[in-house]
Amino acid sequence: MSTTKSGLTRRGLLKKGATAAAAGAAGLLTPSQTAAQSTQAPAVVTRTKFKAWISRGDGRGRTTLHEVTLRPISGRQVVVRTEATNLCYSNVGAVIGVQQNAGGAAPPVSALAPPPGTRRMNDMAVIQGHGGIGIVEAVGPEVRRVRVGDRVCVSGTPQCGSCYRCLRGRSDMCQFLSAIGADDLIPIADMSDGTPVFENSHIGGLAQLMVTTEEWVVPIFTKADVVGLGMVCSCVSVAGLGATTSQGLAVIEPASSVAVVGCGPLGLSAVQGARIAGASMIIAIDPIRVRRELAMRVGATHVLDPNADRDNLVQRVRELTTWPTDRLWSGGRNPAGRRPGAGADFVVEAAGADQAPPKLEAGPDPTGILPMQQAYQMCALGGHVVTTSLVRGNITLPGNLFSIGGVTHHGGQAGGASPMRDIPRFVRMLESGQFDAKSLATTVVPIDGMLEAYEQVAYRTTVTAIMTA
Ligand SMILES: [Zn+2]
Ligand SMILES: [Zn+2]
Repeated sequence: MSTTKSGLTRRGLLKKGATAAAAGAAGLLTPSQTAAQSTQAPAVVTRTKFKAWISRGDGRGRTTLHEVTLRPISGRQVVVRTEATNLCYSNVGAVIGVQQNAGGAAPPVSALAPPPGTRRMNDMAVIQGHGGIGIVEAVGPEVRRVRVGDRVCVSGTPQCGSCYRCLRGRSDMCQFLSAIGADDLIPIADMSDGTPVFENSHIGGLAQLMVTTEEWVVPIFTKADVVGLGMVCSCVSVAGLGATTSQGLAVIEPASSVAVVGCGPLGLSAVQGARIAGASMIIAIDPIRVRRELAMRVGATHVLDPNADRDNLVQRVRELTTWPTDRLWSGGRNPAGRRPGAGADFVVEAAGADQAPPKLEAGPDPTGILPMQQAYQMCALGGHVVTTSLVRGNITLPGNLFSIGGVTHHGGQAGGASPMRDIPRFVRMLESGQFDAKSLATTVVPIDGMLEAYEQVAYRTTVTAIMTA
């Protein structure tokens, strides 16, 4: 045995070093964290039965309520007991099966959607919805982000933190979003006849349980009320608040002018975000009178009806945003070229295509193309436009305005929000009273009333609906 001058054996030194290294690793954690880590054993539940709305087949009547049996989980999977979920308008066609009636055109498809796979989504038994809030009930052995008992948002947008887009600061476009096609989905439960059950986007929502992976889960550490949380954590409010307050795409400067085109739950969240960001003028535009009134209640300073103003809508926004002086030597803002008026410093487009013919006031263009074009044209030179909606078709803009008009366009998936950073901030906005969720969640139903509530969403007779499970 070799011995050092101090009398220590080599083996003794190595042993001592190993102990020190272990102590160093443990030193990264506080004692309570170490204790908690040791209790983070995988909590795996199986054979649990739960209620789920299953969509399958074509046309009306494709969504029905069933009791299904949870499959075993593994790896990075997380089981969340649903407390609330938002009934998103983008899911109308899939849930109530009316998309074929909306002008006969194909439903709008996200640019991020994967190519069609070998199996057809409509033939599969799928729990629709995309996200919600709830309590973690079980975690796979590889899960680090959340623990059993945590209150979480199952985000409509994942954030893995390690894909190329997450690493370059664009977690609003996390590449996990591109793996949600029919061929990518894995069964999470079984129906009583053995039919495998899948979930929209690996998250579902229209069920008592959501089974997802940790990339889609954001811990929110709050005791806020279920309906308010379901609203503020929904894809639409995250996108509206993201576009206006996350500063992921553009920054609303204090006292700037903001136009919001379309006042569904996303636009009304953007109106509130513009108020929170300190805009001095917020112009809310929607064909539905009650939505314009609601916009005024939650922060708009002006409202416009795109039907009443039709071809003049852009001009009306330009007039409203005209600066007190156009004397350039006095800090004035002159019009953009031959067009009078300044234009809004910042525009959020949130109109989109009709998925069903509205029973309240219909807008001027069911494809959503016109409002998107108008949104671009009502923006000030040097301003920013964030588009957030799904439309049918291609937009046309004056080439030279687009080319050298100085308007910066941002494609606003999730409004540029970074889920792990921003969703907890949005929850703080709810807790502090900055964000009014109640005014947006105009219908609240238990799970059994989901389908009826989705009809109201589809025909725009409510602003949006929250299902509590
Ligand atoms: Zn959505
Ligand atoms: Zn990612």
